[in-house]
Amino acid sequence: MLADKDRIFTNLYGFHDWRLKGARARGAWADTKAILDKGQDGIINEIKASGLRGRGGAGFPTGLKWSFMPKADPRPSYLVVNADESEPGSCKDREIMRHDPHLLVEGCLVACFAMRAHAAYIYVRGEFIRERERLQAAVDEAYAEKLIGRNNIHGWDLDIIVHHGAGAYICGEETAMLESLEGKKGQPRLKPPFPAGAGLYGAPTTVNNVESIAVTPTIMRRGATWFAGIGKPNNTGTKLFQISGHVERPCVVEEEMGIPLRELLERHAGGVRGGWDNLMAVIPGGSSMPLIPAAQCQDLTMDFDSLSKLKSGMGTAAIIVMDKSTDIVKAFARIAYFYKHESCGQCTPCREGTGWMWRVLDRMAKGNADKSEIDLLFDVTKQIEGHTICALGEAAAWPVQGLIRNFRHEIEARIDQYHAAHKVAAE
Ligand code: SF4
Repeated sequence: MLADKDRIFTNLYGFHDWRLKGARARGAWADTKAILDKGQDGIINEIKASGLRGRGGAGFPTGLKWSFMPKADPRPSYLVVNADESEPGSCKDREIMRHDPHLLVEGCLVACFAMRAHAAYIYVRGEFIRERERLQAAVDEAYAEKLIGRNNIHGWDLDIIVHHGAGAYICGEETAMLESLEGKKGQPRLKPPFPAGAGLYGAPTTVNNVESIAVTPTIMRRGATWFAGIGKPNNTGTKLFQISGHVERPCVVEEEMGIPLRELLERHAGGVRGGWDNLMAVIPGGSSMPLIPAAQCQDLTMDFDSLSKLKSGMGTAAIIVMDKSTDIVKAFARIAYFYKHESCGQCTPCREGTGWMWRVLDRMAKGNADKSEIDLLFDVTKQIEGHTICALGEAAAWPVQGLIRNFRHEIEARIDQYHAAHKVAAE
């Protein structure tokens, strides 16, 4: 269990002052100049040593990502902060933006300095009106106090531009976000080139999640060894977990990486509704991650490596709990509908496949299908996975694969019931 003294987000619930005065009282902006004095390589090496892995879903090492940025390039460098947070189940970045926005603003300065960038764009999800207003107010305060901007007290010029999206899930994909920032349709780009080579306006760019950036000043202040000492090897530090669905008290909580799922749910969310034995399954990392059935949840620990061993993933650590009252097939038909709706339509497997999967699952939820269609559906997920421009293909395919792997019997039983009922009716 994470000790209070190790918490980074000490105003997660908004009980205290979110403004600069309150943030300073909690330790933000404390001698940021001393952090920058460690130099660009010094900061990158410290973040690498901390073991911080990106908190936006992929879990790529943050320090390593920063090191990909060119050191001598005539083009400007940019930081883009992904505050789009549109994955169903995810609701942590909004808490940072509305309750502790200065952690993010200070993090932008540290990250931009480390990557030799003088401009950071924070791309905020379209629906986050209040969060954007608050973040903008914090940015304005930082400008007014000369913490950022031209000729600021830290000696590294930095402009932060808060950009409000229009509410498309796909704009959370990093290259679609760059397109959108450039004023174009938010459609993912083919990679390579990767953003570090040619990103925003064709210049070197790093795209990082809000939480990844917001934790960096604290890591720099308290040291890589402190952060690396929390959690498990290769899965270090603290993490914001978001717990929703069939628990007594849904919440967002900062805990150590690798905490057992059961402890997390029972300590912070009041446990599964109706007790642990009433658990049917969890989606551990946002709706794009394959579900994990209750039988595998008993000793499950919440970290990147443990979850990938179970053919699922940590994602954004958005845990959706489903108890035995859940209509699991209908739930996944609904998730399939979401991905169908959010497909940008550029690639055929995604554009056609997401709609096809949804239509089949919608029939299966009623039992109006043939059992041979289950294998066909699985086969189609495999034709989508890995055959698209961006990861929305996988995001749509993986939940369906998880459903079939673990709840095939449920789909078959429903098909049997449907056909039995229709036979009786016909007779
Ligand atoms: Fe667009 Fe889907 Fe292709 Fe991604 S996978 S680029 S969302 S069509």
